[in-house]
Amino acid sequence: MLKSGTVLIRQAMILTLDDEARIHQTGDILIRDGVIAALGALPDDALAPVDRVIEARGMLAVPGLVNAHMHSQSGTMAGFGDRLSHPAFMWLTQAHTSRRNPDEIRLAVLLCAAQMLQSGTTAVIDHFPGQRFSIAEMDAVLSAWAETGMRATLGMRFFDGAFGDILPAGAGLPPDLAAAAASVDILKPHPLAALREEMPEIVRRWHGHAGRIGVFPAPSNPDRCSDEALVFCAELAGQHDLGIHTHLLETRAQAEIAARRYGMTTVEHLDRLGVLSGRWSCAHCIWLTDDDIARMAGHGVVAVHNPESNARIGAGRMRTPDMLAAGLPIALGTDGSGANDNLILQEAMRAAALLHRADLPDRSRWVGARDALRMATEGGAKALRREGEIGVLAPGFRADLVLYRLDHPWWVPVNDPVAQLVFAETGAAVSHVLVDGRVLVEDGRVTSFDAAGALAEIRDRIASLKARNADLFAVAEAITRAMP
Ligand SMILES: [Zn+2]
Repeated sequence: MLKSGTVLIRQAMILTLDDEARIHQTGDILIRDGVIAALGALPDDALAPVDRVIEARGMLAVPGLVNAHMHSQSGTMAGFGDRLSHPAFMWLTQAHTSRRNPDEIRLAVLLCAAQMLQSGTTAVIDHFPGQRFSIAEMDAVLSAWAETGMRATLGMRFFDGAFGDILPAGAGLPPDLAAAAASVDILKPHPLAALREEMPEIVRRWHGHAGRIGVFPAPSNPDRCSDEALVFCAELAGQHDLGIHTHLLETRAQAEIAARRYGMTTVEHLDRLGVLSGRWSCAHCIWLTDDDIARMAGHGVVAVHNPESNARIGAGRMRTPDMLAAGLPIALGTDGSGANDNLILQEAMRAAALLHRADLPDRSRWVGARDALRMATEGGAKALRREGEIGVLAPGFRADLVLYRLDHPWWVPVNDPVAQLVFAETGAAVSHVLVDGRVLVEDGRVTSFDAAGALAEIRDRIASLKARNADLFAVAEAITRAMP
């Protein structure tokens, strides 16, 4: 592991998010080998010679935010399309993200990491890719995440069944268009026999790398997978103590497919199959029944709320107040830039807190600023299976933290750090970002890799990427016209 030595953060306001919700008006944070060694008003003899001092007077120290669901491959899609159906959106995503070489996979990761680091996100689950993966592609994406210095878990996204929800049989497509969609053949199922070889190999190569990189099996969506593949994911996760990441019941069409296929909901099916457990983190969770919520809460399944993505594509609204009341753990995600154009988690916190208020006369059921912040910290830590290691500033926790400048206009004056972080902050007041005690952002600029260089390279290459996938764009645009 890369040693960060000792780092002393001096005289910051500290929002600990510990069990007692302590806020230190002025305090120091001593970091030793990536871990918080001491915090608060430290005696002078604790401030022995250190490798690095960060003067943080006038700054607020907060645990780094956790983006528990995004897709690095969609990083280049900000601002594309509007008012699209889910099938149209998914087909355009195929056109934008397919057939990339390892270098292009890396650049998309750096683009996403630059956005997240500059806005105070330190940890992430990347659900990658959209199509059948190769080990070389997984090596490319994982080495890129390692390069960024962020804490990153890769969800090895796969499906071995039909992608029925975006091109339903008998959807009424004209025959020539159905034939064109079939001819590009981009959504090829990943045979289970290959997954049984490849997924353990990727886990062996990367899980635990540098103490920051994780690898989870990650169905694209349970409804797109065989039961055997879901059982295999649970077995692999059990053997290596991994999480399992997936999309779950994002759209009404997916709920209808489950009803036809299983004769019950997807959640009930997973439960009866014996695979549902606290290892699962599930993005979206919109079309849940009361029974689904109770089952998920009973198993400690983590729901990953993506409020902006869900609103952007009109998928629906997660039943956050009901799920909080049921005690279901909730994390927060931005989703990919195809469905939500930036990866700024403060906006997702704000949306999560505001989304339900107009419908709920009982204000005690509203998602509060503190609830939203807890989703983006403690909830994210649960999704990454890093609970007790990140999401809190306290001795023994990893030093994943962010310093915000309190001379930024929306911090003047400081009235309530939690409410201002959720309701006022956009990420623009971020000054320093540390992961494992290593400084990745300094004075608002990424220092762990050449972010400006990566952005310039992407600008140079994007035209050739689009030209390469001209056949996919043609099909996607025809489907957009047929299924607007
Ligand atoms: Zn997603």
